[in-house]
Amino acid sequence: MESAPPPPPTLRCFNEHHTTELFPDDGVVTVTSQEQKKVERNIEEVINVYKQIHSVPEPTLLREQHYQYLKKGLRTLSDAYECLDASRPWLCYWILHSLELLEEPIPAAVASDVCQFLARCQSPTGGFAGGPRQHAHLAPTYAAVNALCIIGTEEAYAIIDRDRLLDFLWSVKQPDGSFVMHVGGEVDVRSAYCAASVASLTNIVTAKLFEDTPGWIVRCQNWEGGLGGVPGLEAHGGYTFCGTAAMVILGKEHMLDLKALLRWTVSRQMRYEGGFQGRCNKLVDGCYSFWQGGLLPLLHRAFFRDGESELSLQRWMFEQQALQEYILLCCQNPSGGLLDKPGKSRDFYHTCYCLSGLSIAQHFGNMDLHHELILGKEENRLAPTHPVYNICPERVAQALQHFHQLPAPGQSSSASSSSGGNQRSPPDGEQS
Ligand SMILES: [Zn+2]
Repeated sequence: MESAPPPPPTLRCFNEHHTTELFPDDGVVTVTSQEQKKVERNIEEVINVYKQIHSVPEPTLLREQHYQYLKKGLRTLSDAYECLDASRPWLCYWILHSLELLEEPIPAAVASDVCQFLARCQSPTGGFAGGPRQHAHLAPTYAAVNALCIIGTEEAYAIIDRDRLLDFLWSVKQPDGSFVMHVGGEVDVRSAYCAASVASLTNIVTAKLFEDTPGWIVRCQNWEGGLGGVPGLEAHGGYTFCGTAAMVILGKEHMLDLKALLRWTVSRQMRYEGGFQGRCNKLVDGCYSFWQGGLLPLLHRAFFRDGESELSLQRWMFEQQALQEYILLCCQNPSGGLLDKPGKSRDFYHTCYCLSGLSIAQHFGNMDLHHELILGKEENRLAPTHPVYNICPERVAQALQHFHQLPAPGQSSSASSSSGGNQRSPPDGEQS
């Protein structure tokens, strides 16, 4: 089965048959069909301009421009970011993760300043808030823990108050197994992922904490094959990633209908654009390069463990080159930063998730079995990302190693340090 096809001599979007992939409206014009055609026309124009300028097609990642844009964002943000005042740890995470994908080191002084800022976002009752003196919330808690694990210094790890973090997780746990995003807040499947992610990274998982959570997540998978935010809602890329990644962390992904999930996910890659849409009948968007693209490694591993014999050992089950073409040709701002689609403005969220999706599309496999497919020059190569936590795999391994030396909840520190063998094994999600 396995014969590595040589890279195509030209870009997929330069192929003369590419226009046959345009959306067929079957003569029925609707608001969404018009929007779809508008996006396709914009992309066609981008491709045509690129063709005119470049006789040799070799899309380039604008590394230096992205680096400058990210570096500036760590210190100063424009007033356009005022609306994200309750998401400040997210900005730290989006920028730090983008920098680690670009393999740009973070100066020690900057890393320490970020640590001290995140310390001020930690709530006295546990968990992290969107900003200093705000209420703890699962989303910025996830972002802060990920950011601190990317920094990966003793100072960064020491900021996380694990006992209080566990208290916070208990305060948002619901009797049916779900979690609310914050005390008195809404339930959706993002919260289960955020909770499972931070608990597994910091070694505070207990059997009781996630009791009934897998059963609740399974109910979010609907007839489409993807997952909605809560049981009964439309399948959506972001929620599907969160639900599936949470199941992987909890070692319960086989409770999902994985084949239906695979069919839904791969059907979200757009035939003409090459990028992913978030939901059926919606437009392409660069951030779904990760939310949808990141599902394929999770699914691949689940099928691999099942002994699925038809699985490729070189490629994920999506068009990796098409996604790279979309990100490199359509989602880069020439002055740095990445975006949703041509015509939209850049931001740190799309920069993080376009780069994360690009990394997934470039790297197949894990540390043991690795196969790269880099579109364009070798300089386009990003660092690999861990498909469960979306930080670099070495940072995940380092954090797990650090926190597994510390006592698990309910364990006294002397018991842990004297026996060493009393620790629970690391969660299932760590190995990919
Ligand atoms: Zn987006």
